[in-house]
Amino acid sequence: MTSVNTAIQLITREEAERGASARGATCSPALASGPWEYDLAEALAGIPAYGPGASSLDSAPAATPRQGQLPEEYKLASDEELDARILAAKERLGDRAVILGHFYQRDEVVKYADFVGDSFQLANAALTRPDAEAIVFCGVHFMAETADILSTPEQAVILPNLAAGCSMADMADTDSVEECWEQLEELFGTEPDDAGRVPVIPVTYMNSSAALKAFCGRNGGIVCTSSNAKTVLEWAFERGQRVLFFPDQHLGRNTAKALGVPLEQMPMWNPRKELGGNDQQTLLDSRVILWHGFCSVHKRFNVGQIEKARQEYPGVKVIVHPECPMEVVDAADSAGSTDFIKKAIAAATEPTTFAIGTEINMVNRLAAENPQHTIFCLDPVICPCSTMYRIHPGYLAWVLEELVEGRIVNRIAVDDDVQDNAKIALERMLAAKPL
Ligand code: SF4
Repeated sequence: MTSVNTAIQLITREEAERGASARGATCSPALASGPWEYDLAEALAGIPAYGPGASSLDSAPAATPRQGQLPEEYKLASDEELDARILAAKERLGDRAVILGHFYQRDEVVKYADFVGDSFQLANAALTRPDAEAIVFCGVHFMAETADILSTPEQAVILPNLAAGCSMADMADTDSVEECWEQLEELFGTEPDDAGRVPVIPVTYMNSSAALKAFCGRNGGIVCTSSNAKTVLEWAFERGQRVLFFPDQHLGRNTAKALGVPLEQMPMWNPRKELGGNDQQTLLDSRVILWHGFCSVHKRFNVGQIEKARQEYPGVKVIVHPECPMEVVDAADSAGSTDFIKKAIAAATEPTTFAIGTEINMVNRLAAENPQHTIFCLDPVICPCSTMYRIHPGYLAWVLEELVEGRIVNRIAVDDDVQDNAKIALERMLAAKPL
């Protein structure tokens, strides 16, 4: 199967030659350029951005780590040369380094990974290699932070391109969440009710900064993944009258709805407005306060795509990720995490047609791994997670060759204080059991 990168290159070339695409469409022809072009553009503009494509075109927060310029030799190297250099460096490093590749990572990078999985699976996979000096995380920034929190202090976690952030994670910054918390404490007070439940429990999705995981650790809160969000919300409702859920409104809404929380008790918190844009009574009546955040990749899926798939492929099974909007989750046959999607496909004993609503690299890989089935992405436009896409093989070759020389570049190191509190929230998640 053609890789996502190859498809984008072909589409972009054809568009340039004919002014139109014969093979399909991509959300941004800029994806065809080497990601170092954006590093340079950001350096010139003085502000980090998310790059082209699916993710938000807003500027990333000022504190976002900045990628320096990749040495020229890695930009000029051919695919074959990079391949040989990565393999040689990997061979020389042996057990000294472990490479982790997220499900959404591009094929040209994921093929070197020792482990492939979702963010939490990968952080745990790294634990199986305590002797590795370096954990090279081919994902995005918050994933590398989580790996640093869970790994030993002696291990260095490396993000090959520091500009590989997550626009959704950045939609909830610590200052805005602290400000929201102050307003909620003023409104609700801090005293528990007769059942011993505090007014509000903060719940953060794994896709958030380590600082926000630490905020949850300090304030009686917890972390969730897309696999365990239901269990975590039940845990929170046992201890709190309501939940403040960030940063992904869609995961929060879809999960709370499945637990029977009415939509009118799920107000949205807009951090740019007083009381999040709500009146006091709405907040007092709320069960889940949803942060105004979303994943730009999963926001692209819509009900029209599902209807079209059903018309063209009668009997198609539609499975979407719970970061998709509620009406998409409602219209699908099922919704679940990347692991859920993988398992649902593996469980199909007869050849089946699946339309999947998640990131394109993962969908294409599932299609290649399961030739007995017909598997395609609901979104006809090729639109990868553009921030993760910034980890090009050139960056991987660079960080590995530096490691061979005994130098660590692009290390992600979370402060001890943040680590301690974030671990508390992560440990609460691990201890939470389904009701
Ligand atoms: S797919 Fe969405 S939530 Fe996941 S890393 Fe990319 S931008 Fe973030």
